[in-house]
Amino acid sequence: MITMDDIIREGHPTLREVAAEVSFPLSDEDIELGKDMLEFLKNSQDPVKAEELQLRGGVGLAAPQLDISKRIIAVHVPSNDSENPEPILSAVMYNPKILSHSVQDACLGEGEGCLSVDREVPGYVVRHARVTVTYYDANGKKQKIRLKNYEAIVVQHEIDHLNGVMFYDHINEANPFALKEGVLVIE
Ligand SMILES: [Zn+2]
Repeated sequence: MITMDDIIREGHPTLREVAAEVSFPLSDEDIELGKDMLEFLKNSQDPVKAEELQLRGGVGLAAPQLDISKRIIAVHVPSNDSENPEPILSAVMYNPKILSHSVQDACLGEGEGCLSVDREVPGYVVRHARVTVTYYDANGKKQKIRLKNYEAIVVQHEIDHLNGVMFYDHINEANPFALKEGVLVIE
């Protein structure tokens, strides 16, 4: 089971590497890793388990954050609708890729955080408002999904980890809350 002790923090060189693609058919190890990563996210969002295991809540995790330099990410965005408990997005993605994106940019009004960063870094992290992402699932089947708003931001944050990019690399250092016209602020 993955816990916070398994997560490397900023300053660790693996977080700045470009991770290697995984090959198919996937190894049992890569399949297990994906499952464990998704389970970690679910545990981190479960108040009882998070408390018991001392987990910081997270909606996404990338293998390099576990010091495993492979192109694997997990995302688990819970429902925000009490009528429908199905998560908005819950997936393990192998070799995810942004196929295309909107011209419009977006950022989270509250900025971003990261399980590998134990401090608040204020500022807008400007990303694409909408993305089309391709990836392979655990069965080796190619998937294509269109994402917008929060889910699009989460997946872009995780794909960045596969390329050695941290969220604060996108923050305008001179003026962290400067925004160009037309950027969608997601609250
Ligand atoms: Zn992160």
